[in-house]
Amino acid sequence: YFADHPEYFLLNSKGRRSAQNLCPTHPEVIRLATECVLAALKKNPDAELISISKNDIRGVCQCARCRALNEREGSASAGPLTLVNAVAAAVAKSHPDVLVSTLAYHDTVQPPKTLRPLSNVVIRLCTDTCMWRYPYRPAMETEGFRDALTGWAAVHDKIGIWDYSVHFGNYMQPWPSFHAIAENLRAYAQNHVVGVMIQGAYQSPGNERELMRSWVFAKLLWDPSRECWPLMQDFIHGYYGAAAGPIERYNRMLYQAGLANRGIGEIPDFLAKSQKLFAEAKQLAAGDEALARRVDLASLPILQWELARDVATYNTGKVSEAERLRLRGLLDAFAKAAAHHGIRSVSERDSVAKWCGKIRRMLSDPAPARLQAVSVGKARAVAYRLSSTWKFRKDDADEGHGKRWFQTKLDDGEWGSYRTDLGVGWEKQGGKGDGVGWFRKTVRVPRQLTQKHVYVCFGAVDESAWVYIDGELRHTSTPETTGLEIIKLWATPFRFDAAQWLKPGREHEFTVRVHDAGGMGGLYMPVLLVGSDTPLTAAQILQAAGVTNPYH
Ligand SMILES: [Zn+2]
Repeated sequence: YFADHPEYFLLNSKGRRSAQNLCPTHPEVIRLATECVLAALKKNPDAELISISKNDIRGVCQCARCRALNEREGSASAGPLTLVNAVAAAVAKSHPDVLVSTLAYHDTVQPPKTLRPLSNVVIRLCTDTCMWRYPYRPAMETEGFRDALTGWAAVHDKIGIWDYSVHFGNYMQPWPSFHAIAENLRAYAQNHVVGVMIQGAYQSPGNERELMRSWVFAKLLWDPSRECWPLMQDFIHGYYGAAAGPIERYNRMLYQAGLANRGIGEIPDFLAKSQKLFAEAKQLAAGDEALARRVDLASLPILQWELARDVATYNTGKVSEAERLRLRGLLDAFAKAAAHHGIRSVSERDSVAKWCGKIRRMLSDPAPARLQAVSVGKARAVAYRLSSTWKFRKDDADEGHGKRWFQTKLDDGEWGSYRTDLGVGWEKQGGKGDGVGWFRKTVRVPRQLTQKHVYVCFGAVDESAWVYIDGELRHTSTPETTGLEIIKLWATPFRFDAAQWLKPGREHEFTVRVHDAGGMGGLYMPVLLVGSDTPLTAAQILQAAGVTNPYH
């Protein structure tokens, strides 16, 4: 409908219509939504509940009608509830046993002052305002959520809950939220809640302690007055049998952290303590294949946490070979265990394969130089991809130019090591913050580069670059010289013809000064020398050589 009827859709604060949500008070929207819902119920005669909710994106319609209503009612839930009530009135006539559910989520968490849900409406209140930010703290300890739940409960007797028991950024991270969820369930039972959904990892198995979560929460849903920790103990002893002792100690450590509203980063020596407990549990489970498998799965978050933590602080410029090999060992063990247990997702965004791929690239050997024949249309060219290792020095005082760090005979023995094949900038390779950094490399030009044009082609530089060959500035790529804004410049390839300065078979000294105004900085893509008798653009060169920007 968007092309013909933009007025059916949300008017945003910039005065534009957005197809991502509706204007819920438009009479035609109400009519169409009602028709649509009645048709869906006709097709699904066994349905007991239908959900009419906003899309999962923030924003409140700012049209004059919605704004006046929401302001009068003191909550942005008034607009959507107007739509939901209208549909619910029609549903009540034709399908008296069907409930109409709507999310109280993002902007619509708080109840309106006077507008009331019809009796066949279920308000499905989400805990996004508290459990995202304070996952270990009972929801009722957050004022906004407490007001919302008690506010809805004071005026309505059908409330549903959408709660969260997972870290969407890392499903496997040990997550001490048992106590908080147990307290939440008790509060829901006292506030007219008729249904609860607790969201975990939904793409694949692998949510941390997911089986115990399901079992303990199911028991608490049946009887929220039960104590959480004894239920956890019951599960641990029933499920881990001979290996239950150390696993109970591990769980107690997490449970107590949760009681104190703390995550694992605040548990002293969490990793070492956990590793010791799981080593003990594995010994106790030895010889019992099914039990060993259970213990192995339970220990996987510890392995993944160690890997994630150490990779987050990994510094390619400084890391020792022994450390690189140790991390590769961890990565291999994790990938193998994840496959063994059918775990396919690490987070809402990353599959196991994607996540491991990123780490594997960081831990890989540097890419060697490579000579390849390439073609662009009918033209033939020779592309020489420089090896990925450069010398690097951060220049916080911006003194390199004055000290002539671009000169051919420079003692760069103290400079760090840097790689252009990792898709990461100097922040991960020994350089801190924005500003200036210098890169140096000695390049022997292949004897095959005898063509009319010999291009020096950069996949991209983040952000401005000054390229020196044998001590002379030969090319500049800045907002001034390219006409590109920084937000484009950092990801745009460039090339220049250096045939007159580069001699086939000879060594040349390359130096690149880089200035970075924000975010990632430095070289993060391959650099190529390309010999061609016909003119080539940077884009043509990269496509022919199969080089792609990891951020595109
Ligand atoms: Zn509106």
